Amino acid sequence: MRMYDIIAKKRDGGALSDEEIRFFINGYVKGQIPDYQVSALLMAIYFRGMTDRETASLTMCMANSGETVDLSSIDGIKVDKHSTGGVGDKTTLIISPIVASLGVRVAKMSGRGLGHTGGTVDKMEAIPGMQTSIDREKFFDIVRKVGVSVIGQSGNLVPADKKLYALRDVTATIESIPLIASSIMSKKIAAGSDCILLDVKTGSGAFMKTVDDSIRLAQAMVAIGEHVGRKTIALITDMDRPLGNAIGNSLEIREVCETLKGHGPGDLTQICLELAANMLFLAGKGSMEECKKLAGRQIDNGEAFAKLKEMVAAQGGDTAVLDDGAKFEQAKVKYDVPALSEGYLYSMNTEQCGIASVELGAGREKKEDSIDFSAGILLRKKIGDYVKKGEVIAEFYSSSPDKCREAEKLFESAVSIRPEKPAFVPVIHGRVTVDGVEK
Ligand code: URA
Repeated sequence: MRMYDIIAKKRDGGALSDEEIRFFINGYVKGQIPDYQVSALLMAIYFRGMTDRETASLTMCMANSGETVDLSSIDGIKVDKHSTGGVGDKTTLIISPIVASLGVRVAKMSGRGLGHTGGTVDKMEAIPGMQTSIDREKFFDIVRKVGVSVIGQSGNLVPADKKLYALRDVTATIESIPLIASSIMSKKIAAGSDCILLDVKTGSGAFMKTVDDSIRLAQAMVAIGEHVGRKTIALITDMDRPLGNAIGNSLEIREVCETLKGHGPGDLTQICLELAANMLFLAGKGSMEECKKLAGRQIDNGEAFAKLKEMVAAQGGDTAVLDDGAKFEQAKVKYDVPALSEGYLYSMNTEQCGIASVELGAGREKKEDSIDFSAGILLRKKIGDYVKKGEVIAEFYSSSPDKCREAEKLFESAVSIRPEKPAFVPVIHGRVTVDGVEK
């Protein structure tokens, strides 16, 4: 078999066989096929697409390209969750304790922030002492005893994706549905859970900018999950505005705790209840209606918040900051951002808001940069609110006034204030299951 022929076949619109896909993935991981040939194939896939059978085959070759996690020694149904990434997305740390407090096991490997989007591992590390790099046996032990553990990706999981993702990043081939779907699903399948809930973000802060594209991506991922025997559901959720009010690591942990205590922002609470209910549904805890009630009850009775504290303590974190957010190390500078005119807060370019928070120190510009956990943005006004000129629309937290002034320019260009009220946009746009799409 020759890589040249595989490239030519896809260039001409053909469907690759399982053997051809295996040949290219194994050869690339072993270093036998050079980047330039794989780049050509990725571009051919970008333009020609892949059938469902090819995408499933690519996913499984990638999932089996390195170590896989075997969770069978942990009793009960294990449910994983994946978000395609967003700004202010702290849902994992809210929904995992909700479902774990009802007996559903969550053994989750999360990522760090990437570009304008935040990452769960960075948020967790804002908690003093919190360990996110834990060996496999201890990780399993915490899941057995507490019911939930969230750690960083460890071991040699899906090396094919590490190499392919880095190559896609520099060859303008990220935005391809079969390539995104196989990248995400190979990691979820290798991580070993029985069921998978996908949160596919849509809008200006997401990879997928339109609801239709997000549905197509969700359908591709649900088809792959079900094809390999993992029950899979996807929700399409809004990322045309930051989620909740907090962007930035310790600010977001404070908002996680507020939400688990029942005082969270409406949009965040609504999405979390819906995501948690779908995880419970996947685990067979009842109808969607029953699962929604169960999820809400765990917030009201305090058991979900208690479960978060149990997990944090098991991973070495200081739970005092969860009870009292004022105990987090505070930012040196607090800076109020005023509205430049009067009217309705009409839209927020969410990617720009994320970049402004990186400018304040809450994220990394380069992989090796360190994070200022206390930095970030607290939104005082959200889309649809009426504001007077000069009224504070956001608070910035950072280590220097200069960073605040730079971030303010970005933030101001992200926000538009208009005389007319914006149209209502739901926070959840749809749900994709093996049976179809519910809008
Ligand atoms: N997230 C991933 O893990 N892979 C992609 O290709 C895009 C988003």
